[in-house]
Amino acid sequence: MNEKRTAPTGRCGGSRIAVVGAGIAGLTVALSLGRAGIRCEVFEQTKQLREVGAGVQLAPNATRILHRLGLARKLSMVAVRPSAVEMRRWDDGRLLGLTELGDACEELYAAPYYTVHRADLHQALLDAIDDNVLHIGRRCAGVEEVAEGVRLRFDDGSTYDADVVIGADGIHSLVRSTLAADDPRFSGQSIYRGLVPAGALPFLLEDPKVRLWFGPDQHCVCYPVSSGRFLSVGATAPAGSRSDESWTAQGRVEDLVETYQGWNEEVISILKALDTVGRWALHDRDPLERWSTGRVAVVGDAAHPMLPFQAQGANQAIEDAVVLTACLAEAGPDGVPAALARYEALRRPRTDALQERSRTNSRTFHLSDGEGQRERDLVLAGSQSLRQQDWLYGYDAGAVAGRR
Ligand SMILES: Cc1cc2nc3c(=O)[nH]c(=O)nc-3n(C[C@H](O)[C@H](O)[C@H](O)COP(=O)(O)OP(=O)(O)OC[C@H]3O[C@@H](n4cnc5c(N)ncnc54)[C@H](O)[C@@H]3O)c2cc1C
Repeated sequence: MNEKRTAPTGRCGGSRIAVVGAGIAGLTVALSLGRAGIRCEVFEQTKQLREVGAGVQLAPNATRILHRLGLARKLSMVAVRPSAVEMRRWDDGRLLGLTELGDACEELYAAPYYTVHRADLHQALLDAIDDNVLHIGRRCAGVEEVAEGVRLRFDDGSTYDADVVIGADGIHSLVRSTLAADDPRFSGQSIYRGLVPAGALPFLLEDPKVRLWFGPDQHCVCYPVSSGRFLSVGATAPAGSRSDESWTAQGRVEDLVETYQGWNEEVISILKALDTVGRWALHDRDPLERWSTGRVAVVGDAAHPMLPFQAQGANQAIEDAVVLTACLAEAGPDGVPAALARYEALRRPRTDALQERSRTNSRTFHLSDGEGQRERDLVLAGSQSLRQQDWLYGYDAGAVAGRR
């Protein structure tokens, strides 16, 4: 069944809305606006759309939104529903903590916890948006506020005049630079990511789980994706002086295995089963002072890039999209600045807190053995109830913004 719906004809009070970037944030904005009957144009720099990277965890705070946007069936076909998150020690593999997911999670939050390949999520969003809203091969090179609106300049020499511009252009956002003169902050860590075919490690797929191992300066995470055909693996390592951040840098499996010497056999066997790995130096940014100028606003990593240790960056981008849509849908022709201010007011406290938590996890996931590690392990042992995630997974961004 095609989950695409009739092309929207409405506009937000007649506004021309331009979205820069067609990652998870930009496509969810386009889909959400489209479902509300608001037309937008999405400009993406790449000529061939292709999501790189490996897996992404989608928690109920995002899956309930994606379900409302009509992606339930598609996601259920490509995603995996893990039964639990398990946290273990690096050397002997001892279990430190376990949080049940699966049915317990779905019953509690009325939406599933999924692990999914980024490409599958991206494709599901692409399939759902109206074909003619996406303009690929259009790299935005300038954002200029003019008397009548905002002029986007592209590096092919073309321009587009919009009333509202939404920057969904990722951590190195050009649109963000119209709001602040800050730079990405290097965390000192890199992460290697890759996929292992399910057949290579079948025992990990019998009971699908999110598995984490914590150790000195490093951690490793793996979970199944693509309806169980692959295992997505992420393993951090101190980056040394290498701080280049890119979605496509190649890493070497042997370098990765070398940095995990002394870890338990299960981790080593997973890393050795990787064929190829991508390597990313991890960056985030401090929270923005303001998210909009009244006509220009940012979403997703352009607004709040976070280290991946809370697994919420994409989830928050999806929340942004539905709140932004709710705010714009209520705006009249003169109401856009107020709508964007309301969007910021609704979103900032939550994403500020999650940026901070992701940084905190960056420290606690990588503790050397000692007093701090023992305290962390006590906390993990006592924090297994899913109810402790109510604030995160139970959050209904649509309801918060007055729209479901
Ligand atoms: C190792 C790792 C693991 C992660 N795991 C999770 C997880 O488990 N759960 C989770 O929720 N999140 C996770 N994240 C975070 C998540 O991947 C990001 O938060 C999310 O992808 C951000 O989406 P985005 O659309 O904002 O940005 P991006 O995905 O970066 O997309 C930006 C888009 O804008 C385009 N663009 C950029 N500049 C221009 C321009 N000038 N003109 C036109 N187009 C432009 C780009 O080509 C791209 O298509 C993880 C991140 C990493 C690095």
